[in-house]
Amino acid sequence: MLRQGVPRTVLDIFKPGDEVSRSGIYQVIHANQHAKPHEVTCVYSDRFPPCRDCRQDVRFVLMRGAQHVASHEHFK
Ligand SMILES: [Zn+2]
Repeated sequence: MLRQGVPRTVLDIFKPGDEVSRSGIYQVIHANQHAKPHEVTCVYSDRFPPCRDCRQDVRFVLMRGAQHVASHEHFK
């Protein structure tokens, strides 16, 4: 289940093919609950991939954004 108490809008939910607009930790929600929700790290400008099983029906929900180190002003 989604974590409780975290404000979220439809803008924070992404599907395969969408460009990652913010690096960070995303919760992955699979169709038909063929797999339990889990977290992944996605990096800015990549595209969210399709699931090997539920393909385009997987959804990515931004849990905690964090700037990728290589793009941070102190490290680039
Ligand atoms: Zn899946």
